Amino acid sequence: MRRILLVLSCLLFASCQSNTGDAPPHVGIDRVSEREKLIDVVGMKADIARLSSDEFEGRGVGKRGDAAARAYIAQALASSGIQPGMPDGSFTQPVPITGIKSEVIRPLQAFGKGGDALFAERDDWTCFAYSPATESRIERAEVVFVGYGITAPEQNWDDFKDVDVRGKVVLIMNDDPSADPSLFAGKTRLYYGRWTYKYEEARRRGAVGAMIIHTTPSASYPFQVVQSNHAQERCWLPFSAEQPLALAMWLTEEASKRLVTLGGRDLGVLRAAAEKRDFRPVVLDVAVSVATRNDVRSLESGNVVGLLPGTDPELRDEAIVVTAHFDHLGIGTPKGGDAIYNGALDNASGCAAFLAFARALSGSRPRRSVLFVSVTAEEQGLLGSEWFARYPTIPRKKIVANFNIDGVNIWGRTRDLRLIGHGKSDLTDVLTSEANRRGRKLLPDANPEAGLFYRSDHFNFARIGVPSVFLGSGSDFLEDGETRRSVQRSYTALHYHQPSDQFDSRWRLEGAVDDLQLLFSAFCRVVDASGRPTWTRGDEFEKQR
Ligand SMILES: [Zn+2]
Repeated sequence: MRRILLVLSCLLFASCQSNTGDAPPHVGIDRVSEREKLIDVVGMKADIARLSSDEFEGRGVGKRGDAAARAYIAQALASSGIQPGMPDGSFTQPVPITGIKSEVIRPLQAFGKGGDALFAERDDWTCFAYSPATESRIERAEVVFVGYGITAPEQNWDDFKDVDVRGKVVLIMNDDPSADPSLFAGKTRLYYGRWTYKYEEARRRGAVGAMIIHTTPSASYPFQVVQSNHAQERCWLPFSAEQPLALAMWLTEEASKRLVTLGGRDLGVLRAAAEKRDFRPVVLDVAVSVATRNDVRSLESGNVVGLLPGTDPELRDEAIVVTAHFDHLGIGTPKGGDAIYNGALDNASGCAAFLAFARALSGSRPRRSVLFVSVTAEEQGLLGSEWFARYPTIPRKKIVANFNIDGVNIWGRTRDLRLIGHGKSDLTDVLTSEANRRGRKLLPDANPEAGLFYRSDHFNFARIGVPSVFLGSGSDFLEDGETRRSVQRSYTALHYHQPSDQFDSRWRLEGAVDDLQLLFSAFCRVVDASGRPTWTRGDEFEKQR
């Protein structure tokens, strides 16, 4: 048997040899290990420095910096030989976005049997309009505590039970229950634990207002992050016809305690009850009033879409999508005299990586097509990627995988790196083998409770059934581990979504380059593989495939 195989392989080898004379051009991405070297510190720095410069004004959606960033990215793609990806021969997929900026005209006031209270805007609470009306008004609406506010039939969990919250204001805990490891994936945050889900569910239930109780552990970021977004224009894809939720609010933990105390309740007791499946909503004997005036307008924005066509007759109709959001928060509340939220790490760095991928693929002949999609309005709720997933430029069943880049490792070279959503699909195996080959270690998400898998653009691809890859930085540094880990850890507290997320020439992009070369190499394998990646059996997104 072994001899037969040997003979066969010799024959195959011989036939390959004899074909080289009139062979068609190489099909598949050639010289991957040379190409990956085109992802380098110098190129990355140049793009990050430029896109995060004040010239782009923080790339706020619909603002001058939005158009400027799209033009810069399209130009850079074109110069790497990437074609316009839209059917009309352009790089722009327009995304219809409504911008709503709310101004509080009546501050949050609560009326309970224990007295009335006025809450300080920004310090105690923030809000935004959740409908395109020019005024949002809540008038002495009853407040109902709904625990986590989750309806999850597959977990046999329903926080609302038979309680009707139409026309009421719901007070909701952030995150999802994590005490029982068999429920809601234990400490891992599922989509049910995201604040976006809370408001969506409150709207489905017909509430007029929704208040999320902020705690730093349950949000995974401090209240100042919520405050930064306050009074900013927020962006929306077209609204569906019925949209009863008027206002979406965040309350600090302190303010939440005060609010429930007015009804003679204790927040700790309420929260403890909400950990159990038999929890029932609690009417708080508190009513609230609040109103905003809303400035509603249409914004001009879009996704940048580029295409590197595949060359394999069998596979070229399929595509792998690379994504990196280009938007950030624009110009906002000044901090320390600076009002431009430059978003250097978030996500000029991802755009630089995205453009480095384009450079590295320049002149290659991949088997499958590669779509380069730099999306808008990620910071506004992943809107650009949602739009692309709704209206992809190729049939959605032909999208084989998504590689999303949002932030890179700026702290230095590491032995390890993280795969957010580790184990969700067999893309994990491709990345693991690529990491092993380089003597590195691919680890699961260090913070599964932060729900990072649901917080960037790959989530919208997962939602339509496309397996996705999203890397996180490692922390096992080759040098100065202690110092670098502390700098890395303090980023969220100090710079995340702050004007101080600025490019610094001291950034150690060697770390990013290591990670991205590994990612690129895995990416090339997926692009050229004969088979398609698949979800792990039983994964929450498997059924969408
Ligand atoms: Zn981001």
